[in-house]
Amino acid sequence: MASRKGVEHAANIMDALSASGRPLSAYALLDHLRPTGVAAPLTIYRALEKLMKSGKVHRIESLNAFVACKGSAHHDHSHPHGHDHTVAFTICDACGAVDEFADPRLCDRINESLLARGFVSRDTTLEVRGTCSTCKTTSASRPQQQERGSAAGHHDPDR
Ligand SMILES: [Zn+2]
Ligand SMILES: [Zn+2]
Repeated sequence: MASRKGVEHAANIMDALSASGRPLSAYALLDHLRPTGVAAPLTIYRALEKLMKSGKVHRIESLNAFVACKGSAHHDHSHPHGHDHTVAFTICDACGAVDEFADPRLCDRINESLLARGFVSRDTTLEVRGTCSTCKTTSASRPQQQERGSAAGHHDPDR
């Protein structure tokens, strides 16, 4: 049973994650919740565990950080945008933006492969590293941005 304090911590964690819009480490979250009287990392981990179980928070392994489920901003139930234990993220190396996306076909293919192997998955998280569309656009010399003097674009403008 969730204690009242636990529910409060969970709500504060969701607030901190939504406000930052970025993945936060457990220690960054601890800093956010310290003013509310939380002093132990274990408290944070416990609350995160519950949030992850309910699908409201995902863990980004490669960043060792946590992010609010994109679907949870609009819906309150678990697996709100239909990721049945399969979650996919793009992670921008340039700006650090993390974007969650759901592709049912991707999930189906993964499940087919696992089934063929007789492997029972607990959960699947895909983490794709690279450059986000914003950073790609900024680094390419598009006409309206040429005043920045960037000549690094190897990419056809206006296509
Ligand atoms: Zn999600
Ligand atoms: Zn970026």
